[in-house]
Amino acid sequence: MLLLERNSVAGRKLLISGAGQCNFTHAGPIEDFFDCYADKIKFLKKALTTFTNKDTMKFFESTGVAYQVFPNNKVFPKSMKSIDVLDALLLKCQKANVEFKYNEKVQNISVYDNVFTVETESGKRYFSDQVVIATGGKSYQHMGSDGLGYILAEKLGHTIVKPRPALTDIRTVEKQYRVLSGLSAKDAEITIWHEQKKIKSYVGDLLFTHKGLSGPVIINSSRWMYPKDVVTVNFLYPQTHEDVKAYFAAHLAHRGKEEVITFLKQYKLPRNLYQVLCETIEIDEHLPCAQVNKKQREQLVQMLTKCPFHINELGGFHIAMVTTGGVKLKEVNPTTMESRKQKGLYFVGEVLDVDGDTGGYNIQAAFSTAYLCAKHIIEKENTV
Ligand SMILES: Cc1cc2nc3c(=O)[nH]c(=O)nc-3n(C[C@H](O)[C@H](O)[C@H](O)COP(=O)(O)OP(=O)(O)OC[C@H]3O[C@@H](n4cnc5c(N)ncnc54)[C@H](O)[C@@H]3O)c2cc1C
Repeated sequence: MLLLERNSVAGRKLLISGAGQCNFTHAGPIEDFFDCYADKIKFLKKALTTFTNKDTMKFFESTGVAYQVFPNNKVFPKSMKSIDVLDALLLKCQKANVEFKYNEKVQNISVYDNVFTVETESGKRYFSDQVVIATGGKSYQHMGSDGLGYILAEKLGHTIVKPRPALTDIRTVEKQYRVLSGLSAKDAEITIWHEQKKIKSYVGDLLFTHKGLSGPVIINSSRWMYPKDVVTVNFLYPQTHEDVKAYFAAHLAHRGKEEVITFLKQYKLPRNLYQVLCETIEIDEHLPCAQVNKKQREQLVQMLTKCPFHINELGGFHIAMVTTGGVKLKEVNPTTMESRKQKGLYFVGEVLDVDGDTGGYNIQAAFSTAYLCAKHIIEKENTV
């Protein structure tokens, strides 16, 4: 088996994953994974249940890489060094007689009579009746994955679902929140609106940044977002808009001389957030509660439970951790990863139109799809 790698070393992206610590999978039952790949789970189920998160952990243990499970179920090597994960994989490849050729950028793949010709930038040509495209997505292009894999797949007859950055932050129109940069709101509920149509709601921790919003709840749902969409935030989740509206109607006016800011502090959100929310709707935070009129009361409820943020843009491919989009899943057999268009052609990992949440789900998907593919090729070769 021959592996062509355009870089001078293997696994550059793996090395930077999890901030150099490599969160290589997630603990817990494999069924918990099913909610973490958006609408792509139907395709991935076979792969994830054939080579599970437990198999990944067992695999690394068997290679001498002890692991640790964090309270949030993220799994890392005990050493917290991604190099240990990469070294274990390379050692396994060495034992399996995989030949590596570095600085070999594949530029073209053609097929004639079920034999592939793989041409590299250096002018070399390789021939095989089985080719696996594992070129990754389009994010962090300086790590090697620059989207060329999509072009190779397209030339071989595949459809590419338009690649877009995912697992990224958003840059928003509202400038007044920038002073909150670095502050977070725990367990906020966000709702994504596209042309006034509700798309999805998510709950999780939200982070204000100097350009907009980030934090797990934004990053994990960014695959659904587009510029010009609106994200509304319910800072008081699990209370609904109606709950808070009823509570304010019953209590606010009866707080007499108490200032609005004091009344709001019961919600334990960052103090500066109340300040900015009040400024946005032009309510003096020192206004006595008894003087808040009905319109102002409703505006306050609105800001606390349906606070709007208009998306200017999403963080680009240079900062997005994964790519959503890629080789169309309908054109790939989910039990073998073989192309339905071309016999002997396979796709594994992020080059496929799959993307997972943060937490080890993307590396696990790459391992699980690669396992199914390898298993199929080995079985095929053994039957010849
Ligand atoms: C900053 C960052 C942190 C991340 N952290 C995590 C994490 O902690 N946990 C997690 O699960 N996921 C994480 N991810 C996502 C995860 O790293 C990827 O989903 C995963 O590496 C995809 O694996 P892959 O093998 O499909 O592609 P890649 O890892 O991108 O590997 C593709 C390889 O193909 C090579 N290549 C590309 N084109 C060619 C060509 N034409 N010719 C020859 N070689 C080529 C590239 O050089 C590269 O080595 C992170 C991503 C980033 C950017």
